[in-house]
Amino acid sequence: MTNDQTHVIVGASLAGAKAAETLRQEGLDGRVVLIGAEDERPYERPPLSKEYLRGEVGREKVYVHDEGFYTEHDIELRLGRTAVDLDTSAGEVELDDGERLRYDRLLLATGSEPRRLAIPGGDLDGVVYLRSVQDSDALRARLDRGGAVVVIGAGWIGAEVAASARQRGLDVTVIEPASVPLERALGTEVGAIYRDIHTDHGTKMLMGTGVEAFEGDHAIERVRTSDGRTLECDFAVVGVGVQPRVQLAAQAGLDVDNGILVDEHLESSAAGVFAAGDVANARHPFYGERIRVEHWANALNQGPAAARNMLGQGVPYERLPYFFSDQYDVGMEYSGFAREWDRVVFRGDPGGREFIAFWLVGDRVVAGMNVNVWDVNESVQHLIREGAAVDSRRLADPDVPLDQLVAAPRGGVA
Ligand SMILES: Cc1cc2nc3c(=O)[nH]c(=O)nc-3n(C[C@H](O)[C@H](O)[C@H](O)COP(=O)(O)OP(=O)(O)OC[C@H]3O[C@@H](n4cnc5c(N)ncnc54)[C@H](O)[C@@H]3O)c2cc1C
Repeated sequence: MTNDQTHVIVGASLAGAKAAETLRQEGLDGRVVLIGAEDERPYERPPLSKEYLRGEVGREKVYVHDEGFYTEHDIELRLGRTAVDLDTSAGEVELDDGERLRYDRLLLATGSEPRRLAIPGGDLDGVVYLRSVQDSDALRARLDRGGAVVVIGAGWIGAEVAASARQRGLDVTVIEPASVPLERALGTEVGAIYRDIHTDHGTKMLMGTGVEAFEGDHAIERVRTSDGRTLECDFAVVGVGVQPRVQLAAQAGLDVDNGILVDEHLESSAAGVFAAGDVANARHPFYGERIRVEHWANALNQGPAAARNMLGQGVPYERLPYFFSDQYDVGMEYSGFAREWDRVVFRGDPGGREFIAFWLVGDRVVAGMNVNVWDVNESVQHLIREGAAVDSRRLADPDVPLDQLVAAPRGGVA
C-alpha cells in the first residue's frame, strides 16, 4: 500500500506499539510516527507488579518489541516527547519541543494513570504508586530492604503488589473500604476467596475501612485508618484505581466521558482520529453499549484493530473483555463483563483453589473466571457469546464438557 500519508500515534505503550506494528504489517508505506512521553521504548506493564517487581525477570522481558524493531520497520519512535496540543481542523499535533506534526490519521493511545489519594501526608516520601517500569524499580528497591508495607486498595494492582511483597517476605497489611478484595470486579462471594488466599499467605487484610492520613516526619512512618487504627510501616503503596488520560482529547474538543468516546470502529467524534486501549470508551457491538476496559488484552487487540480502521478496513472491535492476574500460586483468567448478576455457580472446588466461577443473569452466563484451571478460556467465551440458557447443575459438574452446555438458544429454557 504505497501512499504519502502520515499516521501519527500518541502513546508509545502496548496499544500504540501494536498499532504501529499493524500499520506496517498491513502494508502501509507512508510515514508512521509513534510518540511516547516515557523515555523507555514500549513495554508491557503486567510484569511490573509480578515477576519483574520480585526481581525474577530482567528488563529485557518487558518490552513489546526488540530494540531494532522500530528502525527496521521505519517507525519514527519519538521517546521522551509529550503531545501537548491537538488541532483536529488543521490535522496537527504539537509536541512539547514545539514541533508540529501534520497527520492524515491519528491514534490516541494515551492510556491511564493512577488516581492519587488527596489526604494528609499524601506527599510524604515512601507513599508510592505503581504505573511505570521506573515505579516498579523503585518499589523493588524497597522490597529488597524488607520491613512493613501497607497497601492501600485491594483492586488488581493492590492485590498483586501485596502478594509480591509477601512473597518477598515483607510484613504486609492491605486496607480496603469494601468488604472483600476485588469486590467491584468479582463481587463478595468470589472476592472472599481472594481474601482467604491472602490471609493464608500471612497478609493482613483490613477490609471495610479506609485511610485518613499518612503520618511521619518527611517520610511515612504510619498510616491512620478511618476506623481509628494506627499502622506502623516503612512505606505504603497506593492502588486505588486509574483514570484515563483524556486531557489532549478533551482540549481538542473530542467527545470525552470516562475516556475518549469512540464507535465500534474505534473512531472518535473527530473524523480520522481514533482511540485504543485504556483510554478508549468504545461502543461494543456485543453489549450494545460503550465500555472502557483497563486490561492488557484490550490494549493488545484494540491497537491493531484501530490501525486497520485507520487504513479504512471498517472492522468493528468486538472481542469480549479478558484479563488475567497472578497472586502467590493462584493464576486466573476472567472473560466477559458483568456489572450485575443474579448468582455465581462454581465448577470445581473454590476451597482447593482450582475452579471455574460463572456469573449468571437468569440462566445465562455473562462472565467466567478460571482459577488454576487452564485451556478453558475459549469455551467460557463461547458460552458467554452464545447467550443461551444453561442448566446450572451441568455447569457446576466438571464431568460435563463446557462445550456441551448450551442447551437452548437465547431466551430459551434450560
Ligand atoms: C503494574 C500493573 C500491572 C498490570 N497487570 C495487569 C494484568 O495482570 N492483567 C491485565 O489484563 N492488565 C494488567 N495491567 C493493565 C495493563 O497494563 C493496561 O491495560 C495497559 O498497559 C494499557 O495499555 P495502553 O497502551 O492503553 O496504555 P498505557 O500502558 O497506560 O500507556 C499509555 C502511554 O501513553 C503515554 N502518553 C500519555 N499521554 C501522552 C501524550 N500526551 N504524549 C505522549 N505520550 C503520552 C504514557 O506515558 C504511556 O506510556 C497492569 C497495569 C499495571 C500498571
